Amino acid sequence: MHKVVIIGSGCAGWTAALYTARANLQPLVLMGGHPGGLLTTTSIVENFPGFPEGVDGYELMTRMQKQAERFGAKTSFGTVEKADFSKSPFELVVDGEMMQAETVIIATGASHKHLDVPGEDALETKGVTYCATCDGALPIFRKKPLVVVGGGDSACEEALYLTRFGSEVFLVHRRDTLRASKVMADRVHAHKTVKPVWDSVVTEILGVDNGAVTGVRLKNVKSGAESILNCAGVFVAIGHTPNTEVFKGQIETDMDGFIVRKEGSMTNIPGVFVAGDCSDQVYRQAITAAGMGCAAAIDAERFLAARNE
Ligand code: NAP
Repeated sequence: MHKVVIIGSGCAGWTAALYTARANLQPLVLMGGHPGGLLTTTSIVENFPGFPEGVDGYELMTRMQKQAERFGAKTSFGTVEKADFSKSPFELVVDGEMMQAETVIIATGASHKHLDVPGEDALETKGVTYCATCDGALPIFRKKPLVVVGGGDSACEEALYLTRFGSEVFLVHRRDTLRASKVMADRVHAHKTVKPVWDSVVTEILGVDNGAVTGVRLKNVKSGAESILNCAGVFVAIGHTPNTEVFKGQIETDMDGFIVRKEGSMTNIPGVFVAGDCSDQVYRQAITAAGMGCAAAIDAERFLAARNE
């Protein structure tokens, strides 16, 4: 039986682990299928306070893990397959094994959204990818035209990163204004290798018969005109969906699946707390996720203290 089980090992999860460990609660962190979370797929994080030169996303997460472990946090590579919050202690099935927890902090983060167009699934890992930092340097993309889809910070970051490898980087966005922060948008506009393709959506990814991406079919959303853009890679960066499916029916979410916070970081189930991107439609920053992890840890600690009074 664990006093605190933290589900997820991104910024929110490790910060919750650090705080609950320092409160002597010996938290167990279930690292899930993507240890370190989405930040490990980022190259340089420039806006996490304390790192004036920026910090590699993977390194930041490794440091957070070490810091939490230093104070007694335990970690496991498990993924939660089932949760039962109807009884106390709560029950979690993790890689086929049942465990019990007095409190749970859900910090499961979010996953990359897919375009859901023909060719996307068939060509995943054959030129379609969701992470430039992970895949951008592959030989298939070198000195070739590449397409990035999206208009947010992720898409801008991917496009700028890919300028190291591609001959041209086409940034396909469904509007004519970037959603990205000004600093990122300015960098994109200033870079001569990044070529925005405005008001356009990808309707198909081409190359299924070749077993590799050869191009994309585009549709201009204003004129309706269709065109084909030849490219060797499609980098999809159109946002994220929260990883909350496993809690469906028990933990209240909004219409998009983001967990609703009731009182502080508490969910609709007393003793189950939430932190980070799985509960945040608005800010979705590494530092806000870390802050939410801290809040959830303090709430869990107070919940346990009140129960034992
Ligand atoms: P985002 O801000 O939600 O942007 C998603 C982009 O994809 C938007 O431009 C959106 O278009 C477009 N889009 C959504 N669904 C689409 C679809 N089906 N087809 C075509 N385009 C679609 O997501 P994000 O860029 O991943 O950023 C998420 C959060 O992380 C943000 O808060 C961001 O600031 C943060 N972040 C920060 C950094 C950094 O500071 N270095 C880096 C990465 C991410 P519309 O604009 O028309 O809605």
